[in-house]
Parts: sequence; structure tokens; C-alpha cells
Amino acid sequence: MKPTVSTSPFAVTEKPPLSRPRFPFLDLKAQHASIAAEVAVALARVFEGQQMILGPEVTALETELAAFLGCRYCISCASGSDALLLALMALEIGPGDEVITTPFTFVATAGSIARLQARPVFVDIDPATYSLDPNSLARAITPRTRAIMPVHLFGLIADMEPILEVAAANNLPVIEDAAQAIAAAQRGIMAGNFGVIGCFSFFPSKNLGGAGDGGMLSTNSTELADRLRVLRAHGSRKKYHYERLGINSRLDTLQAAILRVKLRYLESWTAARRRNAASYRRLFADAGLSSCELPAEPDGSRHVYNQFVIRVDDRDDLRRYLTAAGIPTEIYYPVPLHLQPSFSYLGYKSDDFPEAELASKHVLSLPIFPELTPAEQSAVVESIADFYQA
Ligand SMILES: *Cc1c(COP(=O)(O)O)cnc(C)c1O
Repeated sequence: MKPTVSTSPFAVTEKPPLSRPRFPFLDLKAQHASIAAEVAVALARVFEGQQMILGPEVTALETELAAFLGCRYCISCASGSDALLLALMALEIGPGDEVITTPFTFVATAGSIARLQARPVFVDIDPATYSLDPNSLARAITPRTRAIMPVHLFGLIADMEPILEVAAANNLPVIEDAAQAIAAAQRGIMAGNFGVIGCFSFFPSKNLGGAGDGGMLSTNSTELADRLRVLRAHGSRKKYHYERLGINSRLDTLQAAILRVKLRYLESWTAARRRNAASYRRLFADAGLSSCELPAEPDGSRHVYNQFVIRVDDRDDLRRYLTAAGIPTEIYYPVPLHLQPSFSYLGYKSDDFPEAELASKHVLSLPIFPELTPAEQSAVVESIADFYQA
């Protein structure tokens, strides 16, 4: 008799996962359905006007976002990555300069530094918040340090008070990578108001996402706002006169029109994400899943849950089990930046940032989008409980 070959990824002794109705990790179709009519009106208005780059629609978005964030100026650009690049350019950071940041982030954070031929200098993360550890900051400062770039990872603002203290003591500007943290706050202050410049992204998966790429800078400095407007438009204030070396990084008028519609819903979507996070906390507690570490929400912080990230043992096995059970998950981020080939020239090695490396092996992002239903959330937690009890 031929031996039977199992195609199941699960050992025969393991209990197979219960298969459930599928739902996505992020349901942008559901979001669009709820605002489709308003978006159509906004798009028609832009097509009728045929101004497709910048213009009054973009200025209106900038004004509305500045009011929302409580900052003096917002300057839009083509992406969150460009926002980071423009911020560094506005501070005249270039070859030989060092900028301190975290290795546990999206590539664009350090990429923007490297693209200007400055050097990303990494410091390890606080394992509880996944953001730059303020205690490691001071010893990373050298005479070449020109800026500090904390990242408000997953929607939680980095511990800004000690970071700003070190920055002030060393006379260094802080640039916030707030791409994942629009509407997040700490001690009543919104992301984008802590540093000299805040950088936001309208990538579709962000809490305020466009229909494509887009980005935004926030600042309370008139001088920096003016410089950023010049830099995003080829370095020109007056057509065909170039006062600085700039780039082409303007926001499409169509994106601005869509984002203005979505901005009106941002508070209710944020509230829904926070409600979903609270539900997860209850469900995990009820299931007695003490082996899963849930996201920290330090006192005085308003987490906006761009991601709901748990920390677990057997992460890869759990993820495989959940996938088979129809539960979508993601890993942000599987490889910290200091171990990426594109940054090997920096000379970092394994164990240089142990907390970032541990996090990359143990984190798992669960669905948290605003339209997620209670039944779907229960299915997520039940499947996790099944895995650990199997
Ligand atoms: C998304 C993101 C960016 C880049 O934004 P894009 O708009 O995709 O260029 C930068 N930093 C972080 C932390 C991000 O999550």
C-alpha cells in the first residue's frame, strides 16, 4: 500500500484550524462604499475645473489639515517618503551628516536620510512601544549629528518628552515620522506638533488614505513652511526662477479633493479603530490569552491603531494557522532596517539592536480597520485561542 502523503501543512496530531468565512486585512472597498457619492461629486468638480496639480483644492486641504492638527502650516507633497525627504532638505541635511532614527520602521524613514547621502544612525527601540528608546538616544549623538527622527509606529506617538529633552540639550531639530499616526496625541498635543516638522502619508493603508500616493508636512515655523513650498516645486517661487535645488513633489488635485472628503470622517474612523482595539482587549482577557502581549497605550497617549500589533511566541506557526483558518494577518516588520541589504554599507550586524530584532520575530498585526465587525473580531481571537489550546 502506498503511504498517504498529506498536503496539509499541519502535523496529523495537530488539530486542523476551523475554516471560517474570509474577510480582508483592510477593507478599503467597505470604506469607499460609505463615501462613494461624495467622492464622485468631488472628482467631478476637479475634472470640470481641469486644474490637476495644486490649486485651490490643495490649498483648502492644507488649511483644513492644519486646523485639524492644530498647527500653523500644512504643506502637501507627493508621498510620505517625499515628506521625509523634503523635511531633511529644508533643514539642509546632506553628505556627512548623521540623523538618528529607529531600525524598526518602514524603509522610507532611513531611506530619506540615505538618499541625501547623510548617514542613518540607528538606536534600539523600547520593546513596550516599538518606538525609538529615549534612553539609547544620548549615546548615539556625535559632533556630526544633525537631527533626530523618531517614528510614531503603528499609531502611537513615541515617548516625546525625553526625546525632546535630549534634542534641546544638544540643540538638534526633531523631525517626526508621523506617517502612521495622523490624529494621534500625547498629553493633548497632536502628532506633527512636537518636532520642527511632522511628516504624514496618504498611502491608501494609512488612517487617512488617498486613492494613490500623497503626503503632507506640518510645521509651526513660517520660515520652514515657506522653504518647504519652494522645495516641493523644483525650488522655485516664481516660474522658471530657481532659488534652491528642489524636487517635483506636488499633491495631485484629485487626491486633495478625495482627501478633503475623507478628512471629514477621520475622527469617526479613528474612534472606530480605538473601539475595535478596546474590543480586542476584552476578547483576549475573556479568552485568558495571557501569552499574547497586547499593544501598550501609555497614560496620556491617544493611540490611533493604524496597526493592532500583538507580540507572541511561535509567531510564524500562529500566522500559518490563522491563514489556514481564514484570518488575515500581516507582519510589520519582518526584517529591521540595519539587517537589510540596502543598508549593509552602514556596517551594522546582528545583535546590534536586540530589541528591534526580537520585535521583528514576535510581532503580528491583526485586522483593526474601522468597518471590522464584532463577529470578525471574535473569530480572530477564537482562532488564536484554538492555536494555543490545540
Ligand atoms: C507609509 C510610511 C512612510 C512612507 O509613506 P509613503 O506615502 O508610502 O511614501 C514613511 N514612514 C512610515 C513609518 C510609514 O509607515
